[in-house]
Amino acid sequence: MNGRKINYIRVSLTDRCNLRCIYCMPEEGISKKEHHEIIRHEDILKILKASAFLGIDKVRFTGGEPLIVKNIDRLIHEASRINGIEDIAITTNGILLNSMAGELKKAGLKRVNISLDSLKEDKFRKITRGGNIQDVLQAIEKCINLGIKPVKINSVLIKGINDDEISDLIRLTKELPVHVRFIELMPIGEGMNYYETGFISSDQVLSEQKELVPLNSNEGSTASLFKLPNSKGTVGFISPLSCKFCRNCNRIRLTSTGTIKPCLHSDTEYDLKKYLESEIGLISELKEIIYNKPAEHNLENDGKSSSKREMFEIGG
Ligand code: SAM
Ligand code: SF4
Repeated sequence: MNGRKINYIRVSLTDRCNLRCIYCMPEEGISKKEHHEIIRHEDILKILKASAFLGIDKVRFTGGEPLIVKNIDRLIHEASRINGIEDIAITTNGILLNSMAGELKKAGLKRVNISLDSLKEDKFRKITRGGNIQDVLQAIEKCINLGIKPVKINSVLIKGINDDEISDLIRLTKELPVHVRFIELMPIGEGMNYYETGFISSDQVLSEQKELVPLNSNEGSTASLFKLPNSKGTVGFISPLSCKFCRNCNRIRLTSTGTIKPCLHSDTEYDLKKYLESEIGLISELKEIIYNKPAEHNLENDGKSSSKREMFEIGG
């Protein structure tokens, strides 16, 4: 465990998605998993209960796209009732969020991360292979109006594709109380097609954004934080490659097929399905997994992730 307190679990609810972002999913989509291969909500809740017993208090539902999953509001509601779970978040592409945000908040959703790589209608459509940016912008506004805090916006930067919009994305934080976070492109799955020519390090972006003022980052945070003077929001940089944050990594990941990945970029996975019938068995397996979480990934030396899964299967 290397002295790290593991208090956060990310749960991928599905590997399916209503978009096909160029650096994440193949254009033709993915081969569909059988219904029985996908972990059931009641089993997710058992795993969350065992996780909470071991000190995990924060859950993020992701995907694929979590909002295409039936009854996600009920799942959030049940998860919020588990003793010890304090914080429930989602990472979403935002396409379906405008109409769902109110119900999700009522169910117990505290925070949202919305992915948005471009502010231009055409380019957004190209990057997502078909998405309508208006859906996402309306969802952002809706979440702000509902008082969901924080609303974070995740942007993966790729040279030659959206690096001309860095200043515009940063400027969003002037008018809106949103937290824009730039994520370095990772050499995993479809991301490999863009990595060699398209990778931009956070340092490179920062060196060109002279107006940004550094803020103190929370301990355990994987982002370094900045702000424009007199802005309503903040700007963060998530740099898994150029400034790896493994020593601050406080999370484990549950895939949509019921395995735990203690590190995003390792091929090690533990199948929890065989422990679902025994609460004690589940707790002791999870305890072992947390204890043996790898100290760090090796992305920068290997030039690619060792994960056998793609980002849409793990959820970021
Ligand atoms: N569909 C949801 C969404 O897009 O927010 C949740 C799942 S998606 C896999 C989670 C995050 O992973 C998104 O912010 C996406 O931009 C990011 N992502 C996907 N592939 C990536 C890659 N190769 N490198 C860095 N981030 C990536
Ligand atoms: Fe879907 Fe999210 Fe991957 Fe885009 S990044 S294809 S929205 S899973």
